[in-house]
Amino acid sequence: MGIVVQKYGGSSVASLDRMRQVAARVAERKRAGVDLVVVVSAMGDTTDELLGLAKGVSADPPRRELDMLLSAGERISMALLSMALQEAGVGAISFTGSQSGIITDESHAQARIVEVRPARILEALGRGQVVIVAGYQGVSRAREVTTLGRGGSDTTAVALAAALSAEACEIYSDVDGVWSADPRVVGEAHKLDAIGYGEMQELARAGAKVLNAQAVEWARRSGITIHALQTGGAGSGTRVGADAPRAAGRAVGAALLSDVARLRLRGDGALLGETLDLLAKGGAAPHEVGADADGAFVWLSLENVHGFPALREAIEKGLGNRVAVEANLCAVSAVGHGLCDSAAALRRALLALTGAGAAVLGATAQGARLSLLTNAARGPAALGALHAALVGEPAAH
Ligand code: ADP
Ligand code: ASP
Ligand code: MG
Repeated sequence: MGIVVQKYGGSSVASLDRMRQVAARVAERKRAGVDLVVVVSAMGDTTDELLGLAKGVSADPPRRELDMLLSAGERISMALLSMALQEAGVGAISFTGSQSGIITDESHAQARIVEVRPARILEALGRGQVVIVAGYQGVSRAREVTTLGRGGSDTTAVALAAALSAEACEIYSDVDGVWSADPRVVGEAHKLDAIGYGEMQELARAGAKVLNAQAVEWARRSGITIHALQTGGAGSGTRVGADAPRAAGRAVGAALLSDVARLRLRGDGALLGETLDLLAKGGAAPHEVGADADGAFVWLSLENVHGFPALREAIEKGLGNRVAVEANLCAVSAVGHGLCDSAAALRRALLALTGAGAAVLGATAQGARLSLLTNAARGPAALGALHAALVGEPAAH
């Protein structure tokens, strides 16, 4: 029988009891004859707590040290799960990202995996051990510890599944799959049985936390099917794989990206270049770059920018009155093939947000994603309205 890669998220290992439950499930699967690699996230809110500690000593923590700190969360989980398995009589060994051969680029706090060398994992599997891997982390060619950006344990799991030619990649969380919108925010959302790589990647980029965008990108590139499942649940979850045909112009889902800032630029293309250089220096990747009647703009997701006040100061100092920085924004997006070619869809989206009392501060339409910028406080209402206007009821089979 082949290798199966499983990933358990923070809520699934939030306490020792839950850790033992995961160990029992893993032990059962191992006894059924499967070679298992289990990727774990930090327990519960550990990553947020570690970030809080860092902010307590520095408003703009050095990114290298931040990665040393944040990677500790997953290290705790991996060791405890391995202990729980051994306690249950199952041979197990835990590895950090570095020991697992997860090689990344140098960009701390949002590193990208460039290569996986799973030699130690294969040796341990050969000895019959269950391998527990700390998610969300890797090591750069300069031998520095890096982290993969929030939600990055999903990426660890998919990249390992690809490198090990695993027969399955199962991502377990506290929801029973991918829904048409976050079911905690949109009561009318419905679960999707299957979704294509392209649409899932757009939904993840647009803020659907259930899967990480880099993970979906890896899955697409290496042809790995992801099964998004609920820990302890009996359902079949959602299969993320080769694109399923869908009616053009209909949205498959909607998502909310919280904590967004916008830079409005007054100048030519050279100014945009200067701005992107400043962002790269501050470790911030632009989420959206475009131009409207007022000039060029950049939307920034602040999720992996751990020191926005310092970045803002650097931008305002560097660009002076050629830039206006706005914060406390969010973006709501609808995703579906052909959505952006439909003027009717854009009109319905604009009306929906206005009807929900969410001022439309900007809009972009690219590929399969239509995104609207509004004030952070109206985000959940805007998401609900956009879902009702463009996603609606489940598609008939
Ligand atoms: P984990 O810690 O296991 O990685 P996450 O918190 O990262 O889990 O992701 C699961 C959460 O994602 C759910 O609790 C849910 O609130 C949220 N979520 C956002 N968008 C969606 C969606 N489209 N479908 C399902 N869950 C979603
Ligand atoms: N622990 C990290 C986070 O909270 C990574 C992950 O959970 O995937 O973002
Ligand atoms: Mg996650």
